[in-house]
Amino acid sequence: MVVGFEKAVSATKSVVTSAKKAPTTLSSDRVINFARGDPTMYESYWRQMGEKCTVVISGHNLMSYFSNAGHFCWFLMPELDRAIRRLHCVVGNAVVDDDRYIVVGNGSTQLFQAVLYALSSSYDPDTEPLSVVAAAPFYSSYPEETEFLRSGLYKWAGDAYSFDKDGAYIEVVTSPNNPDGAIREAVVNRDGGKLIHDLAYYWPQYTPITGKADNDIMLFTFSKATGHAGSRIGWAIVKDIEVATKMVKFMELSSIGVSKESQLRAAKILEMISDDCQNSAPDKEENFFEYGLRLMSDRWEKLREVVKRNGVFSLPKYPQDYCNFIGKYTDPSPAFAWLKSKDGLNCDNLLRELKIVTRGGTNFGVDSNYTRISMLSPDEEFNLLLERLSAIQVTIINGNN
Ligand code: PMP
Repeated sequence: MVVGFEKAVSATKSVVTSAKKAPTTLSSDRVINFARGDPTMYESYWRQMGEKCTVVISGHNLMSYFSNAGHFCWFLMPELDRAIRRLHCVVGNAVVDDDRYIVVGNGSTQLFQAVLYALSSSYDPDTEPLSVVAAAPFYSSYPEETEFLRSGLYKWAGDAYSFDKDGAYIEVVTSPNNPDGAIREAVVNRDGGKLIHDLAYYWPQYTPITGKADNDIMLFTFSKATGHAGSRIGWAIVKDIEVATKMVKFMELSSIGVSKESQLRAAKILEMISDDCQNSAPDKEENFFEYGLRLMSDRWEKLREVVKRNGVFSLPKYPQDYCNFIGKYTDPSPAFAWLKSKDGLNCDNLLRELKIVTRGGTNFGVDSNYTRISMLSPDEEFNLLLERLSAIQVTIINGNN
């Protein structure tokens, strides 16, 4: 098993020259995958909750396509609509007044495509496709999702920082950002721009909640809020009814709505979290977000320690801020670690030698000396990651000797 790197330092420049085997007790040759943001670390919390979130569905239940005939989003179950609005009020992370429209989707992935359709479909079909941009490093799926169908309505136009075309465009603002955890605002800021705010990680376990987001189109996902990625539930909070209605049309044509089983489960879980957050009994245990924040902070502390000790990589630093939900200053603890090789080496390849699979910087529109590591894996895998990163040996060889 490859567990160490030999680092040769010449008089002027340090270079990692090779990976070498070193005798350690590291567990097996198993490849560990941190490339995906699969939020399985929350499983232990939900196991502890036992039957509190169990939903029983009989054979004759939930059979109709319709959830709320007559409502603009006819497939959204009223119980999920209520649960979403309530949780945002409890956490204080988004404005959900009565004049905001909620559209449910099969994950926020489907909603992203629904928004692209909704924002671009009113443009003259004879004009060029609408440019879609995001500031690099951007979430690696945006380019793929935008380009996949080679739509005539919109096209991926890359890094928002270098976008210089006149006219209409769409900018995706991801905050906190995937992959680097940064708090972001739009960067293009020109006439004719439409914004999509992807707020998948604007929850207290990842970042201090400093105010209620109040953007035109906001995307959230059950996957990252509670860890239930398998239910495939996401929601958009939209100010303009025309945009929301077009999104519903997209959903109608792509999947005729969203599974009611999933919606019911999501509603149950979101309500449970809200109940728990509002329970002020003195001996009460920590709520889901407090639990998540404690776990994430602990992981970040351990990762920073290991990264500092081996000296091969660096991590971004984040300012503390007052979290209105937690009621004190908290450190951001993003869902991904954005690792940079200090020597400018291909970070993803370097880690693959240690059988750690990550997602390299080029997927996010930047250089290969960056890579993204998921912080949401189960404890056992995260500990293996720390163990392997700790085993990177820095052997300093004086270049003049
Ligand atoms: N947006 C961002 C920024 C994400 O990181 C993800 C998941 N990795 C998604 C959207 C998609 O989430 P969902 O599971 O709801 O499709």
